[in-house]
Amino acid sequence: MGKPLIGILALQGDFREHRIMIDRCGAAARDIRLPRQLEEVDGLIMPGGESTTMTKLMIEYGFVDEVRRFCASGRPVFGTCAGAILLADRVRENGRGLLGVIDIAVVRNAYGRQLASREAALTIAALDNGPFRAIFIRAPMIDEAGPPVEILSRYQGAPVLVRQNNILVATFHPELTDDARVHEYFLSMNGRDKGLQQHDSFP
Ligand code: GLN
Repeated sequence: MGKPLIGILALQGDFREHRIMIDRCGAAARDIRLPRQLEEVDGLIMPGGESTTMTKLMIEYGFVDEVRRFCASGRPVFGTCAGAILLADRVRENGRGLLGVIDIAVVRNAYGRQLASREAALTIAALDNGPFRAIFIRAPMIDEAGPPVEILSRYQGAPVLVRQNNILVATFHPELTDDARVHEYFLSMNGRDKGLQQHDSFP
């Protein structure tokens, strides 16, 4: 088996930065602009950006059911910031989340204007080698996480990195740092643990 091929939803937002990180981790990355391209990839990243715009584009291009199916296939999916909003089950101001594949509720832009952008040193037990310098940009806040959700890190009490089986969500932007550990963790979500389905081409 060759290296995993990770699709990066490239409709809007900071997909280029994710692509660079995936390259750095030694995996292959491919921009996803059409739903049928999902068939070819072993994992998927939903980048940060603007969730309202991404929602419109995903509906327009017919991505919603296809990404839900992708999530149900057991292949790893990672959403950062706006991507987290799209994956969430509940978005406080709209009710339902677009995809509803992880049992969390989020509040958009919840950290307030004065803290619109900031860095914080996070303790992430799943990662070795000390704190992770996380960048938050108009981040959503996870204000509820159901029983299937594993909380991998918190900041000021609120979960900021969470996982439910093959779905990983960060409210910060690991793709904007030079620290690849969160992406490496994502690449290690290969279906061998947590009762995930094994996907053949994801080693
Ligand atoms: N505030 C943005 C939204 O609600 C998310 C911010 C981000 O992805 N950096 O869509």
